[in-house]
Amino acid sequence: MSAVIISGKELATEKRAFIKAEVQKLVKDQQIQPSLAVILVGDNPASHSYVRAKQKACEEAGMECILDHYPSTLTEKELLDRIAHYNHEGSVHGILVQLPLPDHINELAVIESISPNKDVDGFHPVNIGKMMIDQETFLPCTPYGIVEMIKSLNVSISGKHVVVIGRSNIVGKPVGQLLLKEDATVTYCHSRTKDLASITKQADILIAAVGRANLIGPEFVKDGAIVIDVGVNRLDSGKLCGDVDFDKVKEKASFITPVPGGVGPMTITMLLQNTLQSAQKSESENKTFSC
Ligand code: NAP
Repeated sequence: MSAVIISGKELATEKRAFIKAEVQKLVKDQQIQPSLAVILVGDNPASHSYVRAKQKACEEAGMECILDHYPSTLTEKELLDRIAHYNHEGSVHGILVQLPLPDHINELAVIESISPNKDVDGFHPVNIGKMMIDQETFLPCTPYGIVEMIKSLNVSISGKHVVVIGRSNIVGKPVGQLLLKEDATVTYCHSRTKDLASITKQADILIAAVGRANLIGPEFVKDGAIVIDVGVNRLDSGKLCGDVDFDKVKEKASFITPVPGGVGPMTITMLLQNTLQSAQKSESENKTFSC
């Protein structure tokens, strides 16, 4: 059996068309153009390429994208001042600071300085806390996109055993939490997990968020499992690949995401969704205020 390939690219295209229509409605009816401020510090080539992709996606969706690019010598104070400016700028609905930051800047202090109301990456501790207790908030984009991909398959998540490999704050931990909310039974694995394959082979839904090229071969996968590959790894040849040995695992799984073209496009789509949500919220708050 060869797995059905889950095209994040196709799903993202569908969702972005919907988001674009909602943006047009907001502009036409309320004269509000969703606006995202993106702050990039330094010259990390991967960060540049992620920022370019986000900027392009915003423009295609009819959103404004303000890009502030600073040299790596920017001080933490200067960065915090810039964030404070956007926190108070009513026409800006989302603020994103591209990570990683240079070593002299405290990443957590920066994340905490973004207003939770504009934290469209969903990394602020307040928003993570709200997610944990199922309150409406900005969900972190990669986990949010993964859940949307699984839901698009029209298979029930309830009661399924989800195994997440990876426990980072931006992918592993939140994706498990969001799937717990969908009534899955969730197991987390990480670098200290003993006999990884014995656990991953129990997964109905296996999510690999590690960052090790081709770590997950068919011996880690149960027949018919849904396999979501979050990893993005660059081989010496320059080719991108995931954490999952795609060619071999696709012969065992029922559904599988490719890399590239899987989780990546959905991550940016959920960033657009969060920015739209923030702009819509600002519109309804203005209405409440004027009543
Ligand atoms: P991270 O912070 O480095 O976390 C990696 C996790 O993998 C850690 O929890 C680590 O365990 C675990 N791990 C490492 N080696 C392992 C092993 N041999 N066996 C089992 N677990 C192991 O990475 P991240 O930020 O979550 O990102 C993970 C991957 O996803 C990266 O390739 C990243 O580029 C990619 N990513 C893709 C997107 C997208 O949109 N496509 C978005 C975000 C990230 P410990 O906690 O014990 O160290």
